[in-house]
Amino acid sequence: MDHPLIIKFGGTSVGGGAQFTRAAKIAADAAAARPVAVVVSAMSGVTNTLLGAARGNVEADATAELRRALEERHLEAAREAVAAEYLPGVEERLLALLDRLVAAIQAPAVQPAARKAEIAVYGERLSSTILAGAISSQDAPARVVAEDPIATGAEFSASEVDVGETERRCARLVAPLLDGGLVAVVPGYVGHSPEGLPTTLGRGGSDLSATVLGRAIGSSEVWIMTDVDGVLDADPRLVPDATLMPRLSYEEAGVFAGLGAKVLHPKTMEPASESGMEVFVRNSFAPKRPGTRVTGFEAGPGVRCVALRREVAVEIPCTDGRESKAAMVVCIGSPDDEDLARGLKILRSAGIPAWHHGIASAGLVYVVAVEAGEAALRALHGSLITTPVVEEVA
Ligand code: ADP
Ligand code: ASP
Ligand code: MG
Repeated sequence: MDHPLIIKFGGTSVGGGAQFTRAAKIAADAAAARPVAVVVSAMSGVTNTLLGAARGNVEADATAELRRALEERHLEAAREAVAAEYLPGVEERLLALLDRLVAAIQAPAVQPAARKAEIAVYGERLSSTILAGAISSQDAPARVVAEDPIATGAEFSASEVDVGETERRCARLVAPLLDGGLVAVVPGYVGHSPEGLPTTLGRGGSDLSATVLGRAIGSSEVWIMTDVDGVLDADPRLVPDATLMPRLSYEEAGVFAGLGAKVLHPKTMEPASESGMEVFVRNSFAPKRPGTRVTGFEAGPGVRCVALRREVAVEIPCTDGRESKAAMVVCIGSPDDEDLARGLKILRSAGIPAWHHGIASAGLVYVVAVEAGEAALRALHGSLITTPVVEEVA
């Protein structure tokens, strides 16, 4: 069998019926050429709603309202994306999942952390049911992998993956579907504890689910489908002219994600670099664009991308004797002393005093007043990133 391709869809990529259809077409097109396993997040906003419900005891009225809202949103999406042939089955499964969710919310809290994880993962259980129906509707028969294939430790939140047990579970639960010519749809974010209870991989963890699954089933390629063109050289919500990074190394991607590049869960690259899988980050709404390709390579000298850490734990004495919280801009890459001095000059001409500066393993670090953080990020982004992408030496 060809190496299976993993395609992960984030929450905005399955935000409603039209988006499910778009995602299903991407998966069905790919499945025409090779075996495909899909990992899917909850519909956007659903995990937040569920975590809200998991906090404390929920009144009966509030639970009924939660169920009504989730039912309406998921059924509406299913009716738009799933063909008549598959719709009754999908609707039935969605309603059964919602019944189980309500039971989980109402169950006496034996162990709060276990209850929270159990409730939180219903977002992915619901979205995967719709996506499997939507992919089947695009003439690529698909099935949900209902028994969570990713094995974790006993922690209920941000649980560690058990690599060996995950491999065994995937061989039993995922590989037979792919061998049978089906698209396997795996709910992201959810893990399976040694006692057989649901755990989570942490917020944003569906990215990690994708590479963990890929390593377990011998994939060579993972696509992370999201709502931007790929990994940009700064957070586009803070830096409007952030530009696409066509290439990233596993290491850079891990460092950037760890410093706040929300587009990837910080641990996503660990399974990928261990097993040499290529990771592509692409736009669900423009899937033909090349996106960002993440592999193992040396990026060369200079600054590649910038990240802002707000409210770092350093408190800096101000001139008037008060203490102020600090922000830290990290310019990621392999810069040298000249780059450091250039950055200081850039900040000085923008009128931003740097309280501390230095070179750390991640790159250049500038500590500034919290209020100046975003301006510092934009100034350094605008003038410090000069490094051309160095092509891989074959
Ligand atoms: P998904 O639901 O697909 O997992 P996320 O919301 O988790 O999507 O991540 C995508 C978002 O991450 C983008 O919409 C963007 O606002 C934000 N983001 C932050 N930093 C970056 C970056 N460096 N490159 C791309 N996107 C980023
Ligand atoms: N749905 C989960 C979250 O919102 C996981 C994910 O989207 O990756 O955190
Ligand atoms: Mg995400």
